Amino acid sequence: MPSLDFDALRGHVDIPKNAERLLSRSEKEITFSLNLNMGGDDLLETSAYVVFANTCRGPAKGGIRMASNVTLAEVRDLAERMTWKTAVAGLPFGGGKSGICLDPKTLTRFQKTAVMKEFVHVLGLELRSGFYIPAPDMGTGPSDMAVIYGETHIPESVTGKPPRVGGLPGRREATGRGVAHCAEVALRELLSIEPCKATVAVQGFGNVGSWTCRFLHDAGAKIVAVSDEYGAIYNENGLDIPDLMARAASTGQLPEDGGESITNEQLLTLDADVLVPAACEDQITGANAADVKARLIVEGANGPTTREADRILEENGVLVMPDILANCGGVVASYVEWRQGKSGSITEASETYRTVTERIEKALAQVVTVASEHKISYRTAAEVLAVSEVVAAMQERGWM
Ligand code: NAD
Repeated sequence: MPSLDFDALRGHVDIPKNAERLLSRSEKEITFSLNLNMGGDDLLETSAYVVFANTCRGPAKGGIRMASNVTLAEVRDLAERMTWKTAVAGLPFGGGKSGICLDPKTLTRFQKTAVMKEFVHVLGLELRSGFYIPAPDMGTGPSDMAVIYGETHIPESVTGKPPRVGGLPGRREATGRGVAHCAEVALRELLSIEPCKATVAVQGFGNVGSWTCRFLHDAGAKIVAVSDEYGAIYNENGLDIPDLMARAASTGQLPEDGGESITNEQLLTLDADVLVPAACEDQITGANAADVKARLIVEGANGPTTREADRILEENGVLVMPDILANCGGVVASYVEWRQGKSGSITEASETYRTVTERIEKALAQVVTVASEHKISYRTAAEVLAVSEVVAAMQERGWM
């Protein structure tokens, strides 16, 4: 698993050579052809990937990404991040992820359902045994998880289902809830800024971005800019987030008249207290990191900041709440849903929110302590915590 710099971490955590060997590659990777007879001469033919990065702490947990350009390398990286994220959040899961190389926008509901059924057909063993527990990621959503449940008939085999199909009230907005809470605590405790006085720019207005905006807006923060893949809008007095959410839900994109039009690049370098990248990977890079004016970055997306950008941000004193900490709210809620599925209990949204905020606060406090003890960034501190947890688990299981 390549995304961590083990040599850099070694000064702060004991990583035996055999642990590095085990953590340097995925435990298991499955590549398969996903084929569907669409009727007549029409054959849908594509590739899919499932990666189990490390499962020493529990079954592989991780979403299904559906995008035309998804690659095995990307799925591998995301599965690894899930290993660290579940460890930082203290959840009894390992890291996994799937990718299906299709553009969901080109599929009818009927075709997407058929694709999800075929996915279960190929991966039936991993799903029914509980070894892999998927959830939504980019390009998939609650209805797709409901289809998986419809095939396995095992409530805990998949999370992120709609509440009326065994899903969890509060799961849909849980990642954004956690990102917003992480931002609020960091603003208050690390920067002595009251969230209601803060200005925020959010890249990406999908599940994570829109709900992050909504919770920060409700906390009184001024969301001055948001964007999606089609463009960005700005209002120095604060955007009307509930209105934007309602309109984006009906059209699938941000309304152009929601604010002054700016570019995504301008959004990333706006003069706002907080920047939340909540779209996709590699958005803050060596090319734009020096221009970032935010004092705090809270990573809603997975891997939005490159290593080079990270070094520049650290030199410039920009605080970064890393993805494996900041966006763990989704997998925390997935854990609650999995537990609900196993026990048959009923959970209220308020309990989901409470569990998300408690887990984020606990993990953030641990990260801040390690960072100040070792004089390292919050990202390195989160990685130190995650690696030490996973290494200890591998030792306990006799893997090394
Ligand atoms: P989504 O598909 O619901 O939304 C993605 C948003 O980003 C859309 O608004 C899209 O238009 C926008 N976007 C895409 N490319 C962009 C670009 N170049 N510039 C600006 N906007 C762009 O996806 P999501 O579920 O919100 O996931 C977003 C990120 O958060 C991903 O990295 C995902 O892995 C991560 N994440 C998601 C969850 C979850 O529970 N959904 C949990 C943890 C992490």
